[in-house]
Amino acid sequence: MLQCTALTAVRSPTGEIGYPSCELGEKHDGEHAECCWEEDAWGGAVWFRWDALGGRFVLLPWCEVAGGAYGDACTLFRNHPAAHSWSVVDPTHEAVRQELERQYPDLSRGPERP
Ligand SMILES: [Zn+2]
Ligand SMILES: [Zn+2]
Repeated sequence: MLQCTALTAVRSPTGEIGYPSCELGEKHDGEHAECCWEEDAWGGAVWFRWDALGGRFVLLPWCEVAGGAYGDACTLFRNHPAAHSWSVVDPTHEAVRQELERQYPDLSRGPERP
């Protein structure tokens, strides 16, 4: 599943202008979401959620469901819509990853061995 391409501009609580881009799978239900900063002590992160009417910062626990080719934990928030992060492909990141793998095959990450 490709990543949602929604993008917006927002002033952070500390006054800087940021440009959140949605991390969810394309055609997801509900608001868009970008992880802004992790709150490790709390076990989650602050996300910026937005839609056509505006946005807000919300503290949400991690999804943490493991899966995908490498058994990675999902890096989205609990009960997020659409696919888990290990099934969502950012086409730009994927193009960069493939180019790096071509140039530096020694660095590519093989499947976990038992
Ligand atoms: Zn989105
Ligand atoms: Zn998930």
